[in-house]
Amino acid sequence: MDDVAQTLASDWKYVSEGGATIVFSYVGSPNPSYDGMVLRLRKAVNLGRPVDGMVNEDEPDDPIIEYQKRCMERLLSRENLPLLRSVRLERTWLEQLAEKHDKERPEARSRKDQIDFTRQKGVLATDLVGGDWIAVEVKPKWAFLPSHSHLSEETKAKKVQTCRFCMHSFMRNKKNPEYVNHYCPLDLFSGEADRVRKAIDALWDAWEHSNGGVNNLKLFAHGKVVLPGQIERLVDEKTDKEAVHPEQIKQMFKQALFNTLMKTSVLKAISRLQRTLDPLDIEGLSKLWRETELQSPLYKSEHASYSEQPVSNERIPTTPLGASSIYLPASEPSISDWVEFITNYQSNAAKEMDHSQPKADHLRYYLLAYLLSATFKDCSIIVKLDFLRPGRQSTPTVYPVSVIDLDPKSLDRLQKWEQLDREIGLSKLEQQSRTRKTVLEKKLSRNEKISDADAVWLDHDANLIDGVAIIAFFKENTEELLHTFNRQLRLEEVARLKDTRIDEYFTRK
Ligand SMILES: [Zn+2]
Repeated sequence: MDDVAQTLASDWKYVSEGGATIVFSYVGSPNPSYDGMVLRLRKAVNLGRPVDGMVNEDEPDDPIIEYQKRCMERLLSRENLPLLRSVRLERTWLEQLAEKHDKERPEARSRKDQIDFTRQKGVLATDLVGGDWIAVEVKPKWAFLPSHSHLSEETKAKKVQTCRFCMHSFMRNKKNPEYVNHYCPLDLFSGEADRVRKAIDALWDAWEHSNGGVNNLKLFAHGKVVLPGQIERLVDEKTDKEAVHPEQIKQMFKQALFNTLMKTSVLKAISRLQRTLDPLDIEGLSKLWRETELQSPLYKSEHASYSEQPVSNERIPTTPLGASSIYLPASEPSISDWVEFITNYQSNAAKEMDHSQPKADHLRYYLLAYLLSATFKDCSIIVKLDFLRPGRQSTPTVYPVSVIDLDPKSLDRLQKWEQLDREIGLSKLEQQSRTRKTVLEKKLSRNEKISDADAVWLDHDANLIDGVAIIAFFKENTEELLHTFNRQLRLEEVARLKDTRIDEYFTRK
């Protein structure tokens, strides 16, 4: 194991930090151990007194190394994963590093925490954005539409025709009209040239519109963020930048990104993982959770009164999805749990599971599967491109794409996701109803004929979407109300992978 104290604090450049870690990149004299690498260190909160940490002679490697080796390398090709290895640290060296770079950190961060000086080991990782190339970070998000089987009647029509990301974008745009994003992950993941181009166009537009603020696309040149007003930085140093039109840079960039995305197999792999790890949708998972708890002997004996009264299952209180209780204990998965899960997931037995009728015995499997699916729904890919050389003929190199942000998710997130899923669904429904109302009212104002069913809808249910009353009403009467809307909407069967824009649906003749 290399000892990082052989390098100088000044050989490292501060890059960035998150809540738990801080990252430096190596900029010292050529050294095969450190060239092209970043150092990722754990942080510790400021305690206002010197920390006299206990020296653990046998400190294990950082868990991210073990997690990648034992889990991620079994799911993704090694070519698509950054290289990670352990490196030995020394307290005095860490203190020098902190002293040298503390002023470069955001003040809000340095007030709160610092490098954890007690650590004996850090992580060296491939520097994906810091070198002499363009690094494009894309957060592709949800690659698939859920299968029909476990969706409630109320949400089915929306969930199988509009993808989750597009529904979410609708909701965000409604809350904040500044947020405009027409990117659809289904296009990016489709593998079809036209649709991949469309996805790239949309990513670029959202990036431009938000002045680099959306998190689906980020550009870096020589390790520094490129904003929409600085795209000349994507051009090769030897080119006369003044002579290049921004439109040409934009088109060349899109073409280069397209070339890599069409060639890489990683999007396909991510899509397959997301899909096969989430066969129930959060609705189905939640239902299975509830049913499993209701079946537990302790729950039955303590809540005997419920079984005496004719109450529908949905109205019996149970603990929230993922929350451990005496009836249904659920512990956060350890690395060994993940290893075991992946073995099960890749076994023949898993391939034979009937997901249309999930068994209570398999609840733990489905919970971990959903969490792992969430990891792949939330990961980013880094595409490496050569600097653009307008006007010069050269075959661009296509580099392997790297997948990052693959941290495991924890069970306590499930409740929030379930809540968000509901919010997105309702928001979409409200949006659909508003659009429909507007369309019908316009028709009436032009003295055009509308169908009897539409007229009835307009007189009754359409009024419910006005004002904030609907939110309260939704909470009270979700089921009934959704049924009414659903009946009225008469949504057509659509091909499973087609992402119909709802406005088109309602404005169609
Ligand atoms: Zn979509």
